[in-house]
Amino acid sequence: MSKYDIIIIGSGLGGLECGTILSKEGYNVCVLEKNELFGGCFQTYRRKGHLLDTGIHYIGSLNEGQMMHQFFRYAGIMDKLKVRKLDENAFDKVYYKNREYDYAMGYESFIDTLCKAFPGERENLRQYTALLAEVGSLISVENLKKGIISTEGMKYFNTSAAGMIARITSNPDLQSVLAGSALLYGGLREHSNFYEHAMINNSYIQGAYRFIDGSMQVADGMINVIRGNGGTVLNSSEVTRIIVENNRVQGVEINGTEQIEGKYVISNVHPKQTLTLVDKNRCIKNAYISRINSLENTYGIFTLYLIMKEKCYPYMNRNLYLHGDNDVWYNKKNSMGRTTNCMISTQASSRNSDYVEVISILTPMYIDELSAWLNTLPEQRGEEYKAFKKEKATQLLDFIKSHGIDLTGHIEAMYTTTPLSYRDFTGTCDGSAYGIIKDYKCPQIGFVSTRTKLENLFLTGQNLNVHGALGVTLTSIITCGELLGHEYLAKKIGHA
Ligand SMILES: Cc1cc2nc3c(=O)[nH]c(=O)nc-3n(C[C@H](O)[C@H](O)[C@H](O)COP(=O)(O)OP(=O)(O)OC[C@H]3O[C@@H](n4cnc5c(N)ncnc54)[C@H](O)[C@@H]3O)c2cc1C
Repeated sequence: MSKYDIIIIGSGLGGLECGTILSKEGYNVCVLEKNELFGGCFQTYRRKGHLLDTGIHYIGSLNEGQMMHQFFRYAGIMDKLKVRKLDENAFDKVYYKNREYDYAMGYESFIDTLCKAFPGERENLRQYTALLAEVGSLISVENLKKGIISTEGMKYFNTSAAGMIARITSNPDLQSVLAGSALLYGGLREHSNFYEHAMINNSYIQGAYRFIDGSMQVADGMINVIRGNGGTVLNSSEVTRIIVENNRVQGVEINGTEQIEGKYVISNVHPKQTLTLVDKNRCIKNAYISRINSLENTYGIFTLYLIMKEKCYPYMNRNLYLHGDNDVWYNKKNSMGRTTNCMISTQASSRNSDYVEVISILTPMYIDELSAWLNTLPEQRGEEYKAFKKEKATQLLDFIKSHGIDLTGHIEAMYTTTPLSYRDFTGTCDGSAYGIIKDYKCPQIGFVSTRTKLENLFLTGQNLNVHGALGVTLTSIITCGELLGHEYLAKKIGHA
């Protein structure tokens, strides 16, 4: 039986970051991925010779001296990444009530740009960016250098995102514009907390970049580092059981057959899924299992990928957020079966920087909309599922057209994914895009510790704290800090 110091279940960003950190620190690690392709949401797949990204359209805090840059530098991959900085004058464009509003990079530019549309709002916008900066500074390279991973931000988790924006400005149009990219965090007026809103928006205002030729280069880079450090990374290796004896995890079972031994196991899989894998034991109580099972997840995403005709449609170095209703916050009741908002992102390709090859269009979708196919497997969902996806794609293209963007004549081929795709490929509960909701009314309920009651089983990934590249990275550092010491690891990354 193979033996490892650390077994990591899942090769999403969280799993690979933990594998990178721990293999750099001399542990013998083994990362197990159920799919053929590594990377989870950092996976890029090919259709008609083009690369399609599954779950990363842009990444923030990537300027030198900022968190993501520093982490990738520590990991040893930053200088190998192919990235393109988004348009500093308009990295995001929000379409709302027949007008377009740009988000510019840098606090002063952000304020100046929005002041053109809202001239009387300069002081309020200053207050808004100051708050974003305050939340953003809870995680910084300066803190890491001092041995601090993150400073306390609970009061912002306890604050409503929509409520805080409304306290900053009474102008309803500006409120909507500031919440215009809420799709980035599964934004819901009644639930979303200000911490996530601010952390994510701040990271993009600091430095928003797009990967050239797909985000999978991050996964590939970290896999090379892990293997270079003597670690093992295996695909087509689904963990089907976490073996517990004498109240300690002994190892895992792969694909229902082979067993491997590990001193520690880290799960990058949703905590609810993880618990279904763990052998019955006396440490993990039923109350904990019930709590985890009861946690709500964010909505999922329907993605329409457009393969564009050659040299036909210009590449846009920004993302577009389109809104059809007066309320930019997604509302399940109003929006089921309709398209009320979407995000358009053009993928960057090294083959051509003037024209776009692939456009991704994302819109929220709850798995409830797919109830007819809940008990089906991929490729076995039949003609009605195909017709449903085609109808949704047409609806999305019409929605975009109603905002003055007509893509129809430029499309060579279309592909779609639904929350069921994410449920079945990356194993996210309910096909959720961003995992467990941290509702501002009771965020503590949504927080799951990186530690479990089994002392050698740890958790990591987007469900624990904040999702997205930045949030998952923070959690990876916390998870690995449980083994290495938080202060030691923070300093190591901060001074890399
Ligand atoms: C449509 C979409 C768009 C997004 N856009 C952005 C963006 O632009 N910027 C941004 O920062 N964030 C974005 N995000 C969020 C970001 O992609 C995620 O928060 C992050 O990548 C999640 O990483 P993770 O490691 O927690 O999990 P995942 O990426 O879900 O990885 C989990 C891995 O575990 C594997 N696995 C599951 N079960 C098993 C098992 N039993 N055995 C072995 N392996 C298993 C899965 O196959 C998967 O590879 C987006 C997400 C979605 C869905």
